[in-house]
Amino acid sequence: MPTFVRTEKCDGCKGQDKTACMYICPHDLMKLDKDGSETGHAMKAFNQEPEQCWECYSCVKICPQQAIECRHYADIVPLGASVQPLRGSDSIMWTIKFRNGNMKRFKFPIRTTPEGSIEPYAGKPAVDMASLDKPGVFTMTGKLKGDRSQLICLK
Ligand code: SF4
Ligand code: SF4
Repeated sequence: MPTFVRTEKCDGCKGQDKTACMYICPHDLMKLDKDGSETGHAMKAFNQEPEQCWECYSCVKICPQQAIECRHYADIVPLGASVQPLRGSDSIMWTIKFRNGNMKRFKFPIRTTPEGSIEPYAGKPAVDMASLDKPGVFTMTGKLKGDRSQLICLK
């Protein structure tokens, strides 16, 4: 079941060219309706193809305004209940609201190092681009085509 935006909370990421939800969606589903011509809500984001939504929760977690929610399958989260994350820099808090009004919160650590401190290629050998043409390294058949600089992050 797809995400939806609470228009009263969304601030359009303050009019930036690319909003946080647009940036993070792996399926490119979130869109900012700048002039309100598509939804009637100017400067509010919306899920432009709800049937394609993976429910990956990326947009829900990244939205700085907590404006995005996910409509769940009713057998997992009955109507009237909700599951909402609040992501911090080192932990995430899940708020579970039950239909009867009860609420529970669970907080989990999500990382052990400061944000931005990881060097994924540190200590790794330099890339040997010529080896990409060798059998068994990258492809099974012949030469690799295209721009190789796009394939591997060369540091
Ligand atoms: S990330 Fe949140 S506040 Fe920003 S445009 Fe998307 S829904 Fe609105
Ligand atoms: S839940 Fe995932 S796939 Fe669906 S709109 Fe948000 S980021 Fe995109």
